[in-house]
Amino acid sequence: MILPIRAYGDPILREKAHEVTGNSPELQVLIDNMIETMRGADGAGLAAPQVGQGLRLFVADLTEAWRALPLSLRTEIPPQPMVCINPEIIETSDEQAEFGEGCLSIPGLIEEIRRPWRVKLRYLDREFQECEIEGVSYTASVLQHEYDHLDGILHIDYLTSERRMQLEEKLRDIETGRVRPSYPMQYHISPDSAT
Ligand code: ZN
Repeated sequence: MILPIRAYGDPILREKAHEVTGNSPELQVLIDNMIETMRGADGAGLAAPQVGQGLRLFVADLTEAWRALPLSLRTEIPPQPMVCINPEIIETSDEQAEFGEGCLSIPGLIEEIRRPWRVKLRYLDREFQECEIEGVSYTASVLQHEYDHLDGILHIDYLTSERRMQLEEKLRDIETGRVRPSYPMQYHISPDSAT
């Protein structure tokens, strides 16, 4: 089932998500729905808070980002799409890189975001097996973007205050549903109540 994606401005996008405490049929359904929702929205990743669930869980499809890497940088990645439960960042490189990032909760806004170029994550897959993934370049940027959602951090938080000010009106339009993507969204503020 495709779930509506919470738009920028929804308080759940700013909350720290809770650890997933155990497997359940409901959790597996949520994971399936999140994968379907991510695919339906043509996204590279989707975190549970974006569908209104304050859980430390995200799904990602690194296939495209991975294929865009030169052969020498294609680190081993698990079958995609991947499911990351209770992920922890265990290593980041000092070296940083900047990539254009979008967010399904902030449609139509692609911004260059500077982050560590390499990241290592430890997480549980959907069978609750402990896994590790090393992402570099674009794949590292997707993994860090999704991880951030679990701490209530959005990619626009990394922008300079000057850039944020330039985007203020655009963000307001997104928040109030004046920007309509092709996938279902849920708005915290309705366009009618916005002034
Ligand atoms: Zn996002």
